[in-house]
Amino acid sequence: MRIILMGPPGSGKAAISRKITEKYGLPVIGMEEVAEALSAMAGQEDESGRLARDAIAAGRVSDEVCNLVLKRVLLRDDLAKGYVLLGYPKDAAQAEALHTALKQAGRPFDRVIMIDIDRDELMERRVGRIDCDSCGAQYNLYVNPPMVEGVCDLCGGRLTRRPRGYEENISNQLREYDVAVQPILDYFQKEGILTLVDGNGTEDALWRNVQQAIDAAMAAKIESSEAPAAPQKTEKKKAATKKKTTPGKTKAAAAKATSKKTVTKKAATKKAAKKKAAAKKTAKKAATKKTAAKKKAAAAKTTKKAATKKVAKKKAAPKKAVKKAAAKKTAVKKKAVKKTAKKKAAKKRSARR
Ligand code: ZN
Repeated sequence: MRIILMGPPGSGKAAISRKITEKYGLPVIGMEEVAEALSAMAGQEDESGRLARDAIAAGRVSDEVCNLVLKRVLLRDDLAKGYVLLGYPKDAAQAEALHTALKQAGRPFDRVIMIDIDRDELMERRVGRIDCDSCGAQYNLYVNPPMVEGVCDLCGGRLTRRPRGYEENISNQLREYDVAVQPILDYFQKEGILTLVDGNGTEDALWRNVQQAIDAAMAAKIESSEAPAAPQKTEKKKAATKKKTTPGKTKAAAAKATSKKTVTKKAATKKAAKKKAAAKKTAKKAATKKTAAKKKAAAAKTTKKAATKKVAKKKAAPKKAVKKAAAKKTAVKKKAVKKTAKKKAAKKRSARR
């Protein structure tokens, strides 16, 4: 089974790829393996050796060379049973060129598995997570905040603060990823080998979904490899085989049963998702309030600046009062947010008990 595993940064690709290796015996081919192969190729005294040397000297590997190296790696004898490709392709042109080359070699990609995660969920995971430097306790600013901001509940240690602009960086990174990945997904969708796997639940849930996707792809592969044998048989033999076809039907029935299971599971997942969504909404509301407050403050500042130019200094005093009032309001709001967070934490604690 030749698999490409894709997913946005923070979706847990690496962990899932290790699990695939463990269960299905498919080695992971990442960019390290590709770099190794490139340097090996550079040692050759031929055209591809020259291309590799040029690429290394220039510090930049063109699509052409990259695909050449990948083709060599992926067609290796020790990967005849398959692999999990990670971190490639980076765009649709690479995807199409490589898949086409592998098709010609008779070993195309069987399945492209894309871990599909709600962007809000991803942001919550990546931006919200903070760890205690001293004891390693994990918190999430959105769903599991510490009782006191910046202080660990368990050991009283300091919690690392995110650097300035961290949230924006992650958000930009995700946006760039989405723009780059969509054409790749479109291409593999058109090729009929794309499977989106729900990654919004726990790590275990994601792993179950990935296994289902792989198992289904394996079953489909076996069926399609068995199919071409049938038409070659003569009429009489066909009649005789009719009885034999029953196992095929059973297979279909089994497949149906599996899909039913999947549906039930999906329904369960949806329920869980709804619960989560509700929890998220509360968190979001709090976040929105903060953002709104920030925006308001910013807008107020701009207006104030403009106003200051026109208005005489005499009016400065009442304005200060307004500012103070506004500050009080924000403080009250912040307090409210904190209270909600505390309530939530308390709820969680009691739930744990
Ligand atoms: Zn701690």
